[in-house]
Amino acid sequence: MYIHASVFITRQPLPLPANPAILPEDLEDWMDADILVIGGGIAGISAAARLAPHGRVVLVEAEPALAYHASGRSAALYEPQYGLAPVVGLSLASGGFFRADPLLLKLRGLMILGKADQTASFEALCDELGVAPIPFDEARAQVPILSPVTVALVATGAHAWDIDTDLLIQGFARELRAHRGEIRLKSPVTAITRTAAGWRVTAGGRDITAGILVNAAGAWADKVASMAGIKPIGLQPYRRSMARIPAPGGHDVSRWPMLFGAAASPDQEESWYAKPDAGALIVSPAEEFPMEPHDAFAEDMVLAEGLARYEEMMTEPVTRLITSWAGLRTFAPDRVLVLGPDPVDPAFVWSAGQGGYGFQTSPAASQLVADAVLGRVPALEPGLVAALSPGRFR
Ligand SMILES: Cc1cc2nc3c(=O)[nH]c(=O)nc-3n(C[C@H](O)[C@H](O)[C@H](O)COP(=O)(O)OP(=O)(O)OC[C@H]3O[C@@H](n4cnc5c(N)ncnc54)[C@H](O)[C@@H]3O)c2cc1C
Repeated sequence: MYIHASVFITRQPLPLPANPAILPEDLEDWMDADILVIGGGIAGISAAARLAPHGRVVLVEAEPALAYHASGRSAALYEPQYGLAPVVGLSLASGGFFRADPLLLKLRGLMILGKADQTASFEALCDELGVAPIPFDEARAQVPILSPVTVALVATGAHAWDIDTDLLIQGFARELRAHRGEIRLKSPVTAITRTAAGWRVTAGGRDITAGILVNAAGAWADKVASMAGIKPIGLQPYRRSMARIPAPGGHDVSRWPMLFGAAASPDQEESWYAKPDAGALIVSPAEEFPMEPHDAFAEDMVLAEGLARYEEMMTEPVTRLITSWAGLRTFAPDRVLVLGPDPVDPAFVWSAGQGGYGFQTSPAASQLVADAVLGRVPALEPGLVAALSPGRFR
């Protein structure tokens, strides 16, 4: 099927672009791609896979592998109650996709821990995540290293699952290739020019022409927009670090829930979290440190302070680090994803601001991006589509 950028112009009640991306039929063959996706993280590969059955899709990624940046560094959790209402809406709408493949999700469960002086933030986190208090002894039967001295508040819930993120990404990549879509690695986009028919993009030193651009460049999405002459959203990347430590006290941690430490004050989210991972435990200081887009790495002091907050609640000390890393969680100013055509130039489609939810929202988010590009009525309800639309910043 031939994809026509003018679908936006006929479907969207938005201002007409100054230079509409109308592709005359006889120009069709001139284009290298109907759709060019910039970014090979979960946002880009999922959108590309959804679009590939409907047109010629090329995905360009700067790095030598998919999921090199944020998408290779996550905690891989599906916790659909996490985040603001539109994020929760997207996460819930993604549940059907995840559950259709029994290998994608594995039940994990979650447990919130608080100290005696953290009642307000503990209750705020319990409300957000929809979990209920349980007695300490019951919690200790699940996680035998909880400290009876410091842990005063505990709540648990069952609605959290591990996502097999590698399987998810490889599945989308297979889907893209099965429809003759192309992935070009080591292809950083360095120039973008608007043409009468669409876009001319220089990626890895090669020019590619395309009718529609999908901007899924993660922390770099505003920079890609600027390159294309599109007004940035005001996205802000924040670093979040992670340490992998040996299973505490040699315990079998495989069935432990995801652990969240309540924050120092109710206006913050968790102050640390920990999750079983391949026989070890990953522990994050849960920091939000604003940064310029770059190849993020963990800072020793932040990691040490976060591990100390975790350790305070446990009877087993952290004896050593197996490894550590950091990734950038990139948020829009309102902390909600930015999905859909830019109102000023609808041939430029945003899939950005995934924050800390890029995996768990990816099935519904990529569906929405595909609906927008293909001119279909979105599967999501209109209020949610509006809350996610780039138009809210224009
Ligand atoms: C520590 C941590 C824990 C997390 N835990 C979870 C979790 O439990 N559950 C969850 O759902 N989410 C989680 N997240 C969030 C999730 O990882 C992100 O939301 C998601 O990976 C963002 O995906 P993305 O594709 O937008 O960005 P990225 O994965 O960063 O991909 C963007 C890509 O664009 C490429 N790119 C940029 N500029 C250019 C250019 N000019 N040319 C070509 N390519 C370019 C980059 O190289 C990059 O590969 C976590 C994140 C972190 C850091």
